[in-house]
Amino acid sequence: MQNTNNTNETVGSFQWVTIYKAENTLEANILKGLIQTSGIECQIKGEMLQGAMGEIPFDQTQVSVQVYAIKERHARQILVNYQQVKQSAPDWVCPNCNEHNGSTFDFCWSCETSKND
Ligand SMILES: [Zn+2]
Repeated sequence: MQNTNNTNETVGSFQWVTIYKAENTLEANILKGLIQTSGIECQIKGEMLQGAMGEIPFDQTQVSVQVYAIKERHARQILVNYQQVKQSAPDWVCPNCNEHNGSTFDFCWSCETSKND
């Protein structure tokens, strides 16, 4: 008896699904690290486009964070935690030079103006 169908049985569970579209490669890698810390395999799609920024539309520079479908639920719980932390400290715009700064920066990365000035 030949079983030619055995490779199809687990396809649904082992397909990559996008669970998050990161704003940039940095954020995608932070999430990848978080997810992998929990023992979930994770990959990033689209980060190669970052090198061509400026020549392609902004929405195409987004980076997809992907996990296997079987781990999707677990990974999304990690994301919810991440987003709660992120929202508690929103990104900010420098009052001096109008540069956009990530929530983890206390000083403008461009002109070093303090966040609270
Ligand atoms: Zn600034």
